[in-house]
Amino acid sequence: MKTIRTVSELGIELANARQSGKKIAFVPTMGAIHAGHLSLIEIAKKQSGFVVASIFVNPLQFNSASDFDRYPRNEAADTAALESAGADVLFLPSVEEIYPNGKVNTRSAGPIGDLYEGQARKEHFDGMLTVVARLFEIVSPDVAVFGAKDAQQLFLIRRMLQQEKNSDWGSKLQLVEGPTIRESTGLALSSRNQRLSTSEMQVALSLSEALDKAHKCAASGEGISSALGEAMKVFSSNPEAKLDYLALVNPESFEALEDGFKGQALMIVAAEVGNVRLIDNRLITF
Ligand code: AMP
Repeated sequence: MKTIRTVSELGIELANARQSGKKIAFVPTMGAIHAGHLSLIEIAKKQSGFVVASIFVNPLQFNSASDFDRYPRNEAADTAALESAGADVLFLPSVEEIYPNGKVNTRSAGPIGDLYEGQARKEHFDGMLTVVARLFEIVSPDVAVFGAKDAQQLFLIRRMLQQEKNSDWGSKLQLVEGPTIRESTGLALSSRNQRLSTSEMQVALSLSEALDKAHKCAASGEGISSALGEAMKVFSSNPEAKLDYLALVNPESFEALEDGFKGQALMIVAAEVGNVRLIDNRLITF
């Protein structure tokens, strides 16, 4: 695996790969690589002959300087993990490479970008779309692989791609979704889990437990408000997990669902455990 830090060097590497007939699959990350990220590399490898992973902790998508500073960074371990998973290139750009001379072509996530994750983290999704569009422009991949773990992010990227159908990078790009990888306990893997103590790990199970309760409730024929009520009970009996939002939305539109809905709903949840913000989601059939 080659580690590349500049856009120009990456351009040469990508041109060589394309010349030898390879398709490019791209897995963007913010580092602190775990098995969830590595599962996306596996998916990318199945899709194409040349896998580019990137690590870039994007300052634009953090609304708090301390959250940005505390975000875990470990270049040596990340490089080793991505290499052993079979990535061909690790792109590790500086902020200057991504936003040269501070020039930023800002993307807007629109009204859905202000809901749920976006309500707690102002401008987070504008920053996320801005960097994803910039990375797509640089890499121009055939395939990009994202995790279902970040459901609202994936929804907004999918929508941006529909709007970019006629752009240089948007016309050929295929988006592939990887399932959420979990600990055996049910806790969704996240770079932020590193900051949880052993007892906080237990408290953090509230998120997946709530999703589980809602799923069981729906499977027994109950409706939207009963499923939400059951999931909510998990948080009222575990006040150490500070619930931010819990909602059932239409996965196609991210609009909140009401009783009477039949079909696939997406339950999304966010809570703070200690000072760590955690999110999770699950598709539930009503
Ligand atoms: P991040 O480094 O957190 O920005 O995540 C990079 C990519 O990994 C995104 O597409 C995430 O959705 C995905 N990802 C994060 N956690 C998981 C997980 N537990 N399972 C699968 N994919 C994940």
